[in-house]
This record gives sequence, structure tokens and C-alpha cells, in this order.
Amino acid sequence: MFYLLKLGELCLKGGNRRQFERVLQANLAAMLRGTKAVLNSTDGRFYVTCEDEAAARVEDILNHLAGITGWARANKCEKTESAMLEAVKNEARFCFEKGARSFKIEARRSDKGFPLSSYEICRIAGEAVTADLPDFKVDVHNPPVVINVEIREKCFVYGYTHKGIRGLPPGTAGRGLLLLSGGIDSPVAGFLMALRGMHIDAVYFHAYPYTSHEARAKVVSLAGIIGRYSMGISLYTINFTAVQMRIKEAAPEPWSTVLLRMAMMEAASILARARHCKCLITGESLSQVASQTIENIACTSGKAFCTVLRPLIGMDKEDITKIATGIGTYETSILPYPDCCVLFSPEHPVLRGKVPEANDLYDNLNLTPLIDKAIREKTVEKCGFHTGGLPRNGLPSDGVL
Ligand code: ATP
Ligand code: MG
Repeated sequence: MFYLLKLGELCLKGGNRRQFERVLQANLAAMLRGTKAVLNSTDGRFYVTCEDEAAARVEDILNHLAGITGWARANKCEKTESAMLEAVKNEARFCFEKGARSFKIEARRSDKGFPLSSYEICRIAGEAVTADLPDFKVDVHNPPVVINVEIREKCFVYGYTHKGIRGLPPGTAGRGLLLLSGGIDSPVAGFLMALRGMHIDAVYFHAYPYTSHEARAKVVSLAGIIGRYSMGISLYTINFTAVQMRIKEAAPEPWSTVLLRMAMMEAASILARARHCKCLITGESLSQVASQTIENIACTSGKAFCTVLRPLIGMDKEDITKIATGIGTYETSILPYPDCCVLFSPEHPVLRGKVPEANDLYDNLNLTPLIDKAIREKTVEKCGFHTGGLPRNGLPSDGVL
């Protein structure tokens, strides 16, 4: 099987384009390891060749590759008129069998030494198809399929193009630390930043034994799914039970969630600095829940001492859910194992916390030694490098290296 990949936004990168392409190439080569597929690139085009038995695995990899707008199964042939027409007819038969009843030919001729112009290629290729398949009609305005002919170092012919996930290759925008809970939002936030070229580390705060092993396994599984788009994730698990107990015992109950978020921000910032992460990433969306009003976000932000990215801040839950479904995290996110915040959430949370009051309450708790100890006792695991399987069902070991 032969695949042609279409590069996305990195085509716009001017002088930096080569650097972006090099990262994309390295990412794809690493993802293809073990499939025996061969990756080639010429003139800013990427091609993958593999045995038919590896096709499903390779296609799954291409569907997880950030940095391409699409990919197509292509026919590669010699740059002669007869070989080109044969390839076009083959592709047309395939499209007709798939149910298309009209088509259009588009031609690009990078090799100007080829004797036919793009216009002539379209004309004679169109005629060859309609002579071969009289019921397959030309429709230049709204065809269900476009048969592409590209004359480059070889002749490439392809019909249906599969959409890629677009974005930029992870590894081109530094490293970010994702605060990953078992919910719907934070995995989507991590995915979106991976798509902007970030390498992702993740931190999960749990409250074992108040939270279950299943809750943690769910987060490992989510990291596994996201990690397949982001060239792997190092997931840090930090036990925050002592911090939560101190907050529960010594702070006014309505403040407990905001104070816990502040402690998470402080701990995550310390970890980010140690891991050379340039920012924190959260799944917060403005006013989605009480702890995410603009006032409470201001309280929690104050404890972060690096940039905080909130890619979902202006998004609707429905749209976030749609992305979660598309990337395969939704089914796992809705498994019914509460994370620490749910168990300790107050009945009547503060909605519009004032920063000075929040800081006073926080300082009175003297959480720093507890946070430092929790960080020292963290555990880490590598999740989600491409294993070739489809980690979609929330099993703990899915997608883990
Ligand atoms: P999510 O669906 O991501 O859990 P949410 O809508 O439930 O988000 P909150 O529970 O208020 O909202 O969490 C806001 C953000 O704080 C999360 O998106 C996540 O980035 C971070 N967060 C919350 N709980 C944890 C946790 N236990 N470990 C790590 N990060 C967390
Ligand atoms: Mg949550």
C-alpha cells in the first residue's frame, strides 16, 4: 500500500518550514516503528509505503499524526501517458465501486518536462474514465470525488482523501504540564495543546484511599489516549490526601474547592519548573462550574508561577464533548469513578472569591510542607506512545508503553 500525506499549517512556516518538517518526519518515523513501513519525503511531500497486512495499523497511525491535513491511498506509476491513464482508470473503478456516480479530475504538474499540460491531463484522463465507465459522469462543480493526478518525480494518482487531525507536530512548541483529571475537559485541553506542537507531561492529584484505584486507572487510560497524539505522555501522580484533609479540617467549607485548586496550581508549578515545562494547561472553561467563575480563576491563577494555558476557556460543553468523542476520550471520561475534588466538594461553594481573602485563608493553612512531601513521593509512568492498538475502552493498561 502506498500513502501520500498532505501537510497542513506547517506549509505556512516560511523559513522555519524545514525545521517543522524535520520534527514531523521524526515523529512519524517513531510512530511507524515496528510496522516495517517505509517513510520517504521529497520536496515537502511525505510518502509511506507498507505491506497490505500493515495497512490498518499505518492508517490508524496517520489518523493520530498531528501536522497533516489529510492522507490518501495513492497509485504511484511511471511518468508516461499510458501508465498515468491506467492508474486513473483503476482509481475511477475503485471510486465507482464505492458508490460515487460523478467525478472530476484535478491535475498538478510540478515536472514541467511532462509533455501534457495540466489542462490536457484533465481532458484526456476524464475521457479515458468515461469511455471505461459510461455511467461515471463528469461533474466539475460538485463532484462526490476528485481524482487527483500529480506529476512529480513519479506520477501519483489518488481519489478519496482522509482528513488528518491537522495542527503542528508535537515537539515544535516546547513542553507543557497538563493538569489531568478523570473528567471530560482536561484530556481535550491536552489534546488541543499537543495539536499546537506541545510535548505534554501530565499531573494527576489523587486522594487515595478516598479515591479508588479505578479512578487512577481511568486517568492512566486517558493519558494513554492523549499520548497517542502527542508522542507519549509522562504522567505524574501526586497523592494530595494530606493537603485535602488539612483544607477540610482547617478552612471554611465553602472555600475548600478553590483552596484545593490553589494548592494544585502551586504543586503543578513546582513540578513544571523541575520538568522544564514552559506552562501549565488546564481544562477550565469560564463559568462551567463554581470554581471556574472569573473571580475564582483569579484566586487559583495567583498560585501558578508560570503561564497557564486554558484552551477551553471560551468553549461550550457540547463542543468540548464533541472533540472528546472524536479523539476517543469521552467513553473513558464518563466512567463513574469520582476524582478527589468530587468527594471533598462543598455544598455551597464560594462563587466570587476575593483574591486577598483567598490568599489569607491559603497562607493560614501552611500547606507548603505537605505539598513538598507529596511532590517528593510522586510516581511517574510513560503513557500512550503508539502501540498500534486502539485504546478506546478505558482499560487501565490500554495505550501504556
Ligand atoms: P475536567 O472535566 O477536566 O475534570 P471539570 O469541568 O470537572 O474539568 P474542575 O473539576 O473544576 O472542572 O477542574 C478544572 C481543571 O482543574 C481540570 O480541567 C483540570 O485541568 C484540573 N483538575 C481538576 N481536578 C484535578 C485532579 N484531580 N488532578 C489534576 N488536575 C485536576
Ligand atoms: Mg473534574
